[in-house]
Amino acid sequence: MTVLRTIEECRAWRARAGVLALVPTMGALHAGHLSLVAEAQRHAHQTLVSVFVNPTQFGPREDFNRYPRPIEDDLALCQNAGVDAVFNPAADDMYSAGPRAFIDMPDLTGVLEGKHRPGHFQGVCQVVAKLFNIVQPQVACFGQKDFQQLRVITAMAEALNFPIRIAPCPTLREADGLAMSSRNRFLTTDQRARALSISRALFFAMETFDSGVRVASRLVTIMQRTLLDVGNLGHVPLSIDYVACVDPLTLKPMEQIDGPAVCCIAARVGDTRLIDNVVLGA
Ligand code: AMP
Repeated sequence: MTVLRTIEECRAWRARAGVLALVPTMGALHAGHLSLVAEAQRHAHQTLVSVFVNPTQFGPREDFNRYPRPIEDDLALCQNAGVDAVFNPAADDMYSAGPRAFIDMPDLTGVLEGKHRPGHFQGVCQVVAKLFNIVQPQVACFGQKDFQQLRVITAMAEALNFPIRIAPCPTLREADGLAMSSRNRFLTTDQRARALSISRALFFAMETFDSGVRVASRLVTIMQRTLLDVGNLGHVPLSIDYVACVDPLTLKPMEQIDGPAVCCIAARVGDTRLIDNVVLGA
């Protein structure tokens, strides 16, 4: 496995590689990321994982500084997974001084994460477009865990004619349902138990949908109630950023669910912000 520390090294390596799949990550890798690697390996001869905690997608009061950066563990996991190259650039290399460029996808970013994290998707699109131009993969894998991100990147690739296939990958969960996330490592035992109400709420919405309910507001109410049911964990605060049932293409809230829909939750448990979703009628 080759470790590429600069854009120049990455471009030189890419020039010698064949059909290539990219897995963009911010590191602190877990089995969810590795499932993207496995999917990448099905699509291409070679796989490149980028590990870069992108400063431009974090707001001023967000967790950029405390975001975990266990790069040696990440390299070992990639090596074991048969990754061909890891691109781990420095922020100064990715963002040299000079005029900045942003990509705005306003039709898709005024809701959900975009509404609660102003500027987040401009930063995501900026770094992903840069990675696409530097790495020039044929395929790029993104997780459904970050549903809006997957939708925004798919739309960006289409709108700007990137010759790259965006491969969606299902959400990997812990045995008890909690969606795997690099941020889970911040949770105390009690916070983790409280955080389980997020996946529980989503599964409850899914069961309710499967039993025939098609009114989105009923699913939203069920999810809110489940999230607020503290059980014996009343001492562990959970605050809801949003609970929504949206159209998977437009990301607009639905009233009557007459096609595919996505239930999305963002909530803070202590200082840790978690997101999760399930797709209905897929
Ligand atoms: P991150 O490192 O959090 O930026 O995530 C990098 C990629 O891994 C994104 O495409 C995420 O959607 C994906 N990912 C993160 N967690 C999971 C998970 N639990 N299951 C599947 N994909 C995931």
